[in-house]
Amino acid sequence: MMGPRQEAQAALFYEFSLDDHVPQDHLLRSIDRFVDLDGIRTHLAHFYSHTGRPSTDPELLIRMLIVGYCFGIRSERRLCEEVHLNLAYRWFCRLDLADRVPDHSTFSKNRHGRFRESELLRHLFETTVARCIAEGLVSGQRLAVDASLIEADANRQYSAPKEDWDVARIDADAAPRAVREYLDTLDEAAFGAATPVEPKFTSYSDPASQWTAARKGPAFFAYSDNYLIDTDHGVILDVEATRSIRQAEVGSTKTMLNRVREKFELRPERLIADTAYGSGPMLGWLVDEKIAPHIPVIDKAGRTDGTWSRADFEWDAENNQYICPEGEALKQFRRNYSDPNRGPTGKGVAKYQALKNTCQTCPSKPKCCPNADARKITREQHEDARDIARAIAKTPQYKISMKLRKKVEMLFAHLKRILGLGRLRLRGPCGANDEFLLAATAQNLRKLAKLFPAPQHSRKA
Ligand code: SF4
Repeated sequence: MMGPRQEAQAALFYEFSLDDHVPQDHLLRSIDRFVDLDGIRTHLAHFYSHTGRPSTDPELLIRMLIVGYCFGIRSERRLCEEVHLNLAYRWFCRLDLADRVPDHSTFSKNRHGRFRESELLRHLFETTVARCIAEGLVSGQRLAVDASLIEADANRQYSAPKEDWDVARIDADAAPRAVREYLDTLDEAAFGAATPVEPKFTSYSDPASQWTAARKGPAFFAYSDNYLIDTDHGVILDVEATRSIRQAEVGSTKTMLNRVREKFELRPERLIADTAYGSGPMLGWLVDEKIAPHIPVIDKAGRTDGTWSRADFEWDAENNQYICPEGEALKQFRRNYSDPNRGPTGKGVAKYQALKNTCQTCPSKPKCCPNADARKITREQHEDARDIARAIAKTPQYKISMKLRKKVEMLFAHLKRILGLGRLRLRGPCGANDEFLLAATAQNLRKLAKLFPAPQHSRKA
């Protein structure tokens, strides 16, 4: 039998509990148990005036942003609509049915004002890291680092080639916020000072973003999202936005390692990374910090013509010399110079050479130095650290490390596919930093929720 037609009928009174309508296994129920915003008000207290109209509750804004980044809703306008309509989102934001959702403009006002001044989003992210440590998900021993390109909100059509781009002509007072941030970060190692090389194009709308073709496809404007993770459970320990060039990404690794040591007293036994991080200075820094570099070494000494490369010569540290496969010594100095600057050394590079007479009569000369009178080998400043990394690369632990490294790549895949962060919505270094921090916060919360799902009963019970 067909039932009666459903007529819209407004009841005068409702007895309605949001809690009863949020499924027991809803992701937000699990996440809610790990969101600790008690310290938010204290953290922000200095940034609010004691007089005037009461502001929107910052905890409500943060809860809404967590919902947005956990479910890939990064448009604040859409987020307000979704929270207005979705019962689970309302429940998580502590909004009752009749409570008003804040206007979308509230987010940008707070983001550009108090949230940035107080570094609230970093504080929020660090509370999730502290919670992961408290739950026993982080040993802090085997850390991995990597960077991923995230497209900036900038287009090639609205950009200038390097010969037309003139910083001196920018009027900082009249410039948009992203341009002012670009000017402010010109001397920072993560942005303007990362390299003296000018990019091919600079965007007018977001000049701090980097024109890059690193994905081997069409070039685009991008920022790099740098993650430092603990490989035990793939918890993100730190996040940093930089220009999309190797020097800036590698430099951010030092920043992040120093920060986790100061904040959480984490002193890793090893750092796992790909070849981009295998430069001499980076390996040297890690060895000085007593962190084992599980990183492939960048080595340009290899030869393609079949002759012996540097790896075929044995290093004799005690006597400061190389020993060739024929057992002859390659020395840096064969006499004492009264003026040390006259020695055959370059900038940070030492040169070692065999005796000409020995090489000329050597039966292995065609395999060693067919086109030279005597064999020469260079040794870079951080060669000791590079040797340590090469020795580590031959161990079984290194093979395990290379598998663990995939965890950071999986986090980036999750970031782009599930959280939808393929292209930034906010402009400027601060905008990129805000988005990366919120996304990393969401990823850590989702990790906690997945590993420790909420018990299957009502919150009030
Ligand atoms: S050519 Fe010189 S350096 Fe090379 S193997 Fe022979 S003696 Fe040693």
